[in-house]
Amino acid sequence: MAMSLGRMTVNKTGSWRNLRPVIDKEKCNKCGICWKFCPDVSIEIDSEDYPVVILDFCKGCGICAVECPKDAIGMVKEA
Ligand code: SF4
Ligand code: SF4
Repeated sequence: MAMSLGRMTVNKTGSWRNLRPVIDKEKCNKCGICWKFCPDVSIEIDSEDYPVVILDFCKGCGICAVECPKDAIGMVKEA
C-alpha cells in the first residue's frame, strides 16, 4: 500500500472523482490559498502565478472551492 502525506504519486486517484474543480481566472487573485489547502497536493502554480489543478490526482473533495476567498473555483459534475 502506498503511504504518503501528500499526493499519491504511485496510485493516480483522479478516477475516484465525481466533481472536478474549475478555476475562473477572471476572479482569481493568485493568492495561493487553494494550493495551500489542497489535502492531496493536486494544485500547482503556473508561470503566471495562477493555480492549476492536476486532475490525475485531484479527488474532487471541494476544499479548494470552499477556501477560495474570491469564489473563483466552481465544482462541476464529471461527465
Ligand atoms: S484560492 Fe481562489 S483566488 Fe486564491 S489562488 Fe486559488 S483560485 Fe485564485
Ligand atoms: S477538489 Fe480537493 S483534491 Fe481537488 S484540487 Fe481541490 S482541494 Fe485538491
